[in-house]
Amino acid sequence: MEKKIILTGDRPTGRLHIGHYFGSLKKRIELQESGEYTPYILIADVQALTDNFNNPEKVRNNVREVAMDYLACGIDPNKTTIYIQSMIPEVAELTVFYSNLVTIARLERNPTVKTEIAQKREIFGESVTYGFLGYPVSQAADITIFEGKYVPVGEDQLPLIEQCREIVRKFNSIYGEVLTEPEAILSSGKRIKGLDGNEKMGKSLGNAIYLSDSEEEITKKVMSAVTDPNRIKKDDLGNPNVCMVAYYHNLFSTKEEIETVCEECKAGKRGCVACKKQLAKNISDTLKPIREKRAYYEQHPEEVDRILQEGTQKARKTAKETMKKIKKAMKLDYFE
Ligand code: ATP
Ligand code: MG
Repeated sequence: MEKKIILTGDRPTGRLHIGHYFGSLKKRIELQESGEYTPYILIADVQALTDNFNNPEKVRNNVREVAMDYLACGIDPNKTTIYIQSMIPEVAELTVFYSNLVTIARLERNPTVKTEIAQKREIFGESVTYGFLGYPVSQAADITIFEGKYVPVGEDQLPLIEQCREIVRKFNSIYGEVLTEPEAILSSGKRIKGLDGNEKMGKSLGNAIYLSDSEEEITKKVMSAVTDPNRIKKDDLGNPNVCMVAYYHNLFSTKEEIETVCEECKAGKRGCVACKKQLAKNISDTLKPIREKRAYYEQHPEEVDRILQEGTQKARKTAKETMKKIKKAMKLDYFE
């Protein structure tokens, strides 16, 4: 039986952080290693431009950064096709075809888009661009051009998959059963909070530990983490439930260590500085293999470029085949 296609991706607007790792990368690697699927990962530079159109340098530079993060984490180019979105013109073409199949009102009602527009007031002011409002349409093109069957996503992304399914059904009802209707796989990954106590670690929130951070950078960030505000002196009794250091120990330390740290904190026997140093070491040790693998690719940019080029060529070939079927169905197959 032919393996089902899985599509995932990231916008190249910065390097990837611990939140991305626990939120989606781990799951992608697990799916890749299961051998049950044909995974594609897109580096969504066109989508990144929708709210970074005035900063092409940033998008350009982060394409390779994100690719190196993928490779360093264990995305294997022999098993997963990594490609650059803008290099697949069929996706842009398909986005135009799909734009007739979705109303402006429907896009404006999309909960994910609505939340994001509200967050991006400083970029868009009162009126959002056509491109940003339409990014779910372009995402539907990303998924369907590869006849993607499964899309692993977080809960916040579900409305985008629903939008894609609606477009597919509409297309198929008008032009014939050509497109595959995708299904979301809810990734079990959790939302990682920030060291500053923010509900989310995020690039633009300035609270991220990047997969590529050095031991020194990690230590510096951990040292600034928010701890129990009522604990001022070392022998004050602490409450690990309100401490971000304890929260991160739960992600990076052994069970025994977590127990010891929490007990000693509650008894006022362990100072926050010692606790933070131990955490910084554990985070750094956990990320060490990723950092080392990444350092290799940083020294071999030509290898990263070759992987991106080969992945993109492979993806383009598939996209061309699907586009041929789509154009035939839409009676746009004039000549070769
Ligand atoms: P920005 O601050 O610019 O929005 P970000 O750090 O939130 O950047 P995005 O590129 O918006 O990163 O994240 C894309 C996807 O990565 C999210 O949809 C989510 O699946 C995952 N992700 C990001 N941050 C976290 C986090 N803290 N915990 C879990 N998953 C995350
Ligand atoms: Mg975000």
